[in-house]
Amino acid sequence: MGVDTQTLRKWLESYDTNSITIGVVASHSSLQILHGARQEGFRTLGIAVGENRRKFYSAFPGADPDEWLMLENYQQMLDYAEWFRERNVIIIPHGSLVEYLGSENFKGLEVPTFGNRGILHWESSRERQRQWLAMGGCSMPKVIDDPHDIDGPVIVKYAGAKGGEGYFIARDYRDFKRNVNIEQEFTIQEYVLGCRYYLHFFFDPIAKDGYQVQGIGKNAGKNLGRLELMSMDRRDESNVDEFYKLGSLRDLREMSLEPSFVVTGNQPVVIRESLLPRAFEMAEGTVAASFELEENSRGMIGSFCLETIVTDKLEFRVFEISARIVAGSNPFVGGSPYSDINEPFMSTGRRIARSIKKAVSNNCIEDILS
Ligand code: AMP
Repeated sequence: MGVDTQTLRKWLESYDTNSITIGVVASHSSLQILHGARQEGFRTLGIAVGENRRKFYSAFPGADPDEWLMLENYQQMLDYAEWFRERNVIIIPHGSLVEYLGSENFKGLEVPTFGNRGILHWESSRERQRQWLAMGGCSMPKVIDDPHDIDGPVIVKYAGAKGGEGYFIARDYRDFKRNVNIEQEFTIQEYVLGCRYYLHFFFDPIAKDGYQVQGIGKNAGKNLGRLELMSMDRRDESNVDEFYKLGSLRDLREMSLEPSFVVTGNQPVVIRESLLPRAFEMAEGTVAASFELEENSRGMIGSFCLETIVTDKLEFRVFEISARIVAGSNPFVGGSPYSDINEPFMSTGRRIARSIKKAVSNNCIEDILS
């Protein structure tokens, strides 16, 4: 079940757009979102399970929500839909919300939500992501369908794995067999050797200026909206990032150690400036393709991230897309080397709030919500 435009319109009819509250689940990128909402003059609501979640926000008065909704479990959010709507709440989704609620529940949450929830269908399967990214002109790591065909380093990824948990590297079929958990659905990808860059973009469908995305397919010839580069990060992954300190992969195997890819933090990075045109080209293609994925697709709205590896041939490989704010934007609460050029102190969280503010003043709030 999803939310259709008519239903969204009906909810919004009863909204007092002069007193919108930005609501967010207290995790992931919530400090940034709450802080950004406050900067743009919105009232804020934190949603949490467990007192310890709530308590630590008092250490950050610049983000501490004006109001809290404390729940027994996150599924209860579904029962509070009317409560949210009575308070003119707009929910800002992030990876933890979708994980806690489950993607089907999230799609059915009867509260106006920033961005396009319809895109989740395309983001939630690796197969569909590939279709989308290929249509957008992105090159991706090769996929190996039959484990017997492994003849060089590959990375094995489990479906729905949280933050890279359980992923492993294999060099041949024997490696694969030794480590695989066949109970779980997995994908085998060519291991791309290079440096990782997680590119945080923002697509504003309302703006008519700046870097305009050119439509493709049925939208050919149309300007679809403005593409902005907000920031870039690289994830810290435990323990692969520190693995080299213990010796070669062979030494480590002798100690029965395998590299793992569990995300523990994020570092700010910038990319060689000459790679930016290609980065924009890929992001533009991805946004343009998002409008062609299905009939009447509302396309990408707001923040998204292309997760890439740049090889020593200076070529990008996109290995994943996230169609919402990513935690990698957290180092940039005070702006980034990219967003500072256009406006200082513009985090992605604040950019989302700004987008809502602008849509309210242009009387087109439904264009950026679902
Ligand atoms: P993902 O869940 O797809 O975001 O992958 C988690 C982590 O695994 C990434 O942050 C990379 O460090 C690593 N990774 C994923 N895909 C590849 C690939 N094809 N080649 C090399 N490393 C990868």
